[in-house]
Amino acid sequence: MLTTFETVLETKQKLTDDVYLFRFRLVRPDKIVFLPGQYLIADIPQKNNQSIKRLYSIASSPDQTGRFDLIIKIVEKGLGGSYLMNLDIGRPLLFQGPAGAFTLKNTDRSKVFLATGTGIAPIKSMIASIKNFEYKIKSYLFWGLPYISEVFMAEELKEMEKSGNFSFDICLSRETDLGEVAGDDKKHFTLGRIDKGLDDFFLKTESFKDYEYYICGNPGVVESIRQYLFQKGIDTGNVFSEKF
Ligand SMILES: Cc1cc2nc3c(=O)[nH]c(=O)nc-3n(C[C@H](O)[C@H](O)[C@H](O)COP(=O)(O)OP(=O)(O)OC[C@H]3O[C@@H](n4cnc5c(N)ncnc54)[C@H](O)[C@@H]3O)c2cc1C
Repeated sequence: MLTTFETVLETKQKLTDDVYLFRFRLVRPDKIVFLPGQYLIADIPQKNNQSIKRLYSIASSPDQTGRFDLIIKIVEKGLGGSYLMNLDIGRPLLFQGPAGAFTLKNTDRSKVFLATGTGIAPIKSMIASIKNFEYKIKSYLFWGLPYISEVFMAEELKEMEKSGNFSFDICLSRETDLGEVAGDDKKHFTLGRIDKGLDDFFLKTESFKDYEYYICGNPGVVESIRQYLFQKGIDTGNVFSEKF
């Protein structure tokens, strides 16, 4: 059963030209319990006492129970996005949830995460929660974005990498060179689509069929990656996805 959460907007942070991080503090109930990968349903007020529902994945770790983060792309003329953009700090918003079956499995299989754009939101929560697992597993993130200017959170990912069990590759589909990227950071970038990063991983990783694969983002890309994984012989039971 879904719970209704009364929240207030605590902070709003611009991450790129059109992506924002919204942090909500829980008021009643004052805690949330969720599985990494789940989403909340925002109740967005409209004119004439009407409201619309919009789904947003929780980007923060389940360890953080008194507040949660959402990473949202503001699309032109989007009703949900423009409401949130104009919501002042301290203002209330209702959410229902948590919901969704795209959740991280607490198994001894290593994980590959594949995200496009704000599809990184539930995956960020998943990666943050791996440290609580009883199993010591490896995890790899391939994150597809068009341009270097659309990258956010790279410093946080570098921090996470210090654990030694996690590494990431940001795949830039429309960049032609990495001139803007500082020397040491270049190892975190691939020029090309996310499947290019994945191909390199397959070549380097003999045991790739033993991994679990978590895919999230643009519906077309999610579907094409799913089909590609199946062609490679990966079991359908080891592939989990969410389409935004
Ligand atoms: C399970 C689930 C989880 C989700 N989690 C997130 C999340 O964490 N972060 C996030 O940003 N979104 C997420 N979404 C998408 C989100 O729910 C909204 O659909 C999206 O933010 C657009 O809503 P809106 O009200 O701003 O735009 P709408 O009013 O619904 O759309 C306005 C116009 O923009 C177009 N449009 C809608 N989306 C896009 C887009 N992505 N790119 C270009 N044009 C678009 C529409 O076709 C329409 O013409 C999730 C969706 C699902 C199903």
